[in-house]
Amino acid sequence: TVFLGIESSCDETAAAIVARDVDGRGEILADVVLSQLEEHAAFGGVVPEIAARAHVEAMDRLIAEALARSGVALEDLDGIAATVGPGLIGGLIVGAMSGKAIAYASGKPFYGVNHLEGHALTARLTDGVSFPFLMLLVSGGHTQIVLVRGVGQYERWGTTIDDALGEAFDKTAKLLGLGYPGGPQVEEAAKTGDAKRIPLPRPMKGETRLDFSFSGLKTAVRQAAQGMAPLEDQDVADLCAAFQLAVAETLRDRVGRSLARFKAEGLAADQRPALVVAGGVAANSAIRAMLTSLCDRQGFAFVAPPFKLCTDNAVMIAWAGLEREAAGFPADGLDAAVRSRWPLDAKASALIGSGK
Ligand code: ATP
Ligand code: MG
Ligand code: FE
Repeated sequence: TVFLGIESSCDETAAAIVARDVDGRGEILADVVLSQLEEHAAFGGVVPEIAARAHVEAMDRLIAEALARSGVALEDLDGIAATVGPGLIGGLIVGAMSGKAIAYASGKPFYGVNHLEGHALTARLTDGVSFPFLMLLVSGGHTQIVLVRGVGQYERWGTTIDDALGEAFDKTAKLLGLGYPGGPQVEEAAKTGDAKRIPLPRPMKGETRLDFSFSGLKTAVRQAAQGMAPLEDQDVADLCAAFQLAVAETLRDRVGRSLARFKAEGLAADQRPALVVAGGVAANSAIRAMLTSLCDRQGFAFVAPPFKLCTDNAVMIAWAGLEREAAGFPADGLDAAVRSRWPLDAKASALIGSGK
């Protein structure tokens, strides 16, 4: 079974061709991603109108390129999957309309995929992870802990009540004058910093609910920076190191509690449960090292897909479509709506659907 995947929910335009065999093994036949990083850099964040225009300009070319690279002809596709939410509505419309148009013209089924479901199922393609598993998604727009029980069966255990973690990295970098996006720069600067010099809070640490909060941490960095002005390079390095340590220790608390709760649910005796990470922040080596040792201690397998598949891509969208088809979910109609908000779990979705 071969699917075309299309992604355009934020600042990456992407198309991919992915195959799945009867045993559930996947193969990536083409993976094309165009990042709009430079278009948005001057503004220090993603500008929705600029993003939508850039998706329009690139989409047809990227889809044609993915098909050409894979050597798969349009008529040999078994389905088309496009992200229909959550994300920036202009970009979502571009990707969804492109996918629907191709589905209509070729007579192939169309699957409208939840972007978060794409992130959630990627580790099954890359590492053959079996259900159930726990996912930590830490990106520019999301910070969530999700228990993945099966295709279409997701329980969101925790989410951020304010900033996403990537957003906190980016805002911290900005206030320290480190450029956009800030995650990699903060990590680099932290290498030469003293993490113990500046005390910072550990937001939500010790709370039994599994949510996150990062805006207070960012504010604490700002106040510390103001107290130290004018900032020398060493001050910036120390602030970055302190911020990164606070983030890592906060994650250790939140994820550690989640792993314990997962185990308490009762697992098959022969099962070594997995923690799967996704999102751009998963590139951070301090965070990775912390998660690795946490998993070792608690008896979990730590699974981190290659960085290229942790950040936004269309491989995960094609794969989510393939998984849905294999699990017997019906295709979506060409009238499938795009949604800027679309939580993964049914309970939260129902609340949005009823207008609350
Ligand atoms: P979403 O996937 O939620 O729609 P997004 O496109 O912003 O949003 P990603 O592309 O997955 O998310 O990740 C980008 C984020 O990852 C940015 O906030 C960036 O600063 C952060 N990031 C990248 N590398 C690192 C790093 N080494 N350390 C910390 N953060 C990082
Ligand atoms: Mg992105
Ligand atoms: Fe994403």
